[in-house]
Amino acid sequence: MIIGIDLGTTNSLAAYFTPEGPQIIPNSFGENLTPSVVSVGDDGEVYVGKIAQERQITNNEQTAAVFKRHMGTKKEYSLGTRTFLPEELSSFIIRKLKEDAEAFLGEKVTEAVISTPAYFNDMQRRATKTAGELAGLKVERIVNEPTAAAIAYGLHERPDSAKYLIFDLGGGTFDISILDYSGNVMEVRAVAGDNFLGGEDFTDALAAMFLYRHQLTDAVLSPRERTLLQKSAETAKKEFALRKTTTMVYPYKGEALDLTISLDEFEKQCAFILNKLRAPVVRALSDASLKLEDIDTVVLVGGATKLPVIRNFASKLFGRLPASHINPDEVVALGAAVHAAMKQRNQAIRELVLTDVCPFTLGTSVSVPTARGIYQSGVYCPIIERNTVIPASRVSRVYTLHDNQQIVRVDVLQGESRKARENLFLGELVVRVPPAPAGKEALDIRYTYNVNGILEVEATAVSTGRTEKLIIEKNPGAMTEEEIRQSLESLQALKIHPREKDEYKYLLEKGERLYQELLGPARYEISSLLVSFEAALEKQNPEEITAVVTELKNFFQTLEDGQY
Ligand code: ADP
Ligand code: MG
Repeated sequence: MIIGIDLGTTNSLAAYFTPEGPQIIPNSFGENLTPSVVSVGDDGEVYVGKIAQERQITNNEQTAAVFKRHMGTKKEYSLGTRTFLPEELSSFIIRKLKEDAEAFLGEKVTEAVISTPAYFNDMQRRATKTAGELAGLKVERIVNEPTAAAIAYGLHERPDSAKYLIFDLGGGTFDISILDYSGNVMEVRAVAGDNFLGGEDFTDALAAMFLYRHQLTDAVLSPRERTLLQKSAETAKKEFALRKTTTMVYPYKGEALDLTISLDEFEKQCAFILNKLRAPVVRALSDASLKLEDIDTVVLVGGATKLPVIRNFASKLFGRLPASHINPDEVVALGAAVHAAMKQRNQAIRELVLTDVCPFTLGTSVSVPTARGIYQSGVYCPIIERNTVIPASRVSRVYTLHDNQQIVRVDVLQGESRKARENLFLGELVVRVPPAPAGKEALDIRYTYNVNGILEVEATAVSTGRTEKLIIEKNPGAMTEEEIRQSLESLQALKIHPREKDEYKYLLEKGERLYQELLGPARYEISSLLVSFEAALEKQNPEEITAVVTELKNFFQTLEDGQY
């Protein structure tokens, strides 16, 4: 069996193909989304998803989240006594999805098509593939998330050509991709986005409104109270998908504080965040040399696009209703499953991956004369501009600034800011030139960016032909064959928590978290319920277990409703 996997920063999910079309595979809780959180217990047992999310609070040092941001790097995460690379943590998520899929489908899952953001470079894609392999799956194909979304909307069934704009707002990332489909080839024409903008910002906005109205500030809250506030805001935010007002309830120091907020008020509060969504859209269109009218379909992707404020904003921005009838937080996994089925039948869309364009501008820092003949230093000089089709090689000529200058320093920078220092520093190169009057000696700076995301910088003194070279691997992080083998071996010792026990373990961990968060009578109540629960589990008495589980769930609900 081959499945499609959306390995998200916030949530991950799997889908498979049926004669009726693609279907999401529910996890052990019967839920479609598995939070992308991993936690390791003292005994080496690995928890994934909701259980790990609870442990983020009670066992923070043993829990990791948002590691997708560091995919393809050597960043190490210490979880208790062990350390993991991002692909290893991701492999636990995939292993969990695989186990849940096998239980649901009643057959072995051997292969997967996994999605990655369109802007992922070769290294990040390789790391994603490795994650799949570490989970015991064959991964022949990586599909771009925006492409998967377009496939779920039936792009591959179109006989003609089409252009898509995919608007993907996840938990903490915003991606705009412009896709051009024709002749069975999918081209990613441009990408833009904001790596630090997502649904969480809207949760924060709601939490801020709440604090303000109750004359509280973030500073007076303990870390736990802050987490609890986030949770309350998250729940209240999702209510907006259903109605025009939401009531946020937050138990603070033994008191259930609440606040009812209308959609209009919320929209005003979010104006600043919403505005940030505009620039990447404009930029992607202009980089692709397209106008909005040229786009056939705008598709909304990502859980955060369920927010009415975002839908309204997008409709206004695009002057039309974007497609969103396929659940935005499931659409990528569904598309990946269709892709998997197409692959099996050998009719997959040929996909030009985005490593076909360079996602950022690469340049250097120069000095330029001002009107009064004074030189202003630190001005950015782009050499390879963003969304240039790669492999690309570009040269820029610069001149000496001072009489008898013998050294020219070339900064290698990445970014879009006019001020050189605001861009990301990647490295530097020093080249010697013969002494001469200012401006007489020239240097040719050549940037070559290849399909693997590796940048080669070459600086040549024009008069002497003397050349210096620098190779910059943006993410020198891919694991070697040997490292993968070793990792497979050591990961094997770690077992994913058995899915049959997930529900009880979740209740225990949640109880543990609430115990730590609360004070006073509520705390005693939880404590006594947990003691009974543990005793019932110990005795393995089904009736007793069922009774305590019901009691626990009811009590959690009471707490969440702020009724305690
Ligand atoms: P990622 O692609 O980063 O894994 P998702 O597409 O799963 O993320 O989106 C997660 C975000 O979507 C979270 O910020 C969550 O609060 C938000 N979200 C999910 N459902 C809703 C909803 N009904 N209303 C508003 N926001 C939602
Ligand atoms: Mg996503």
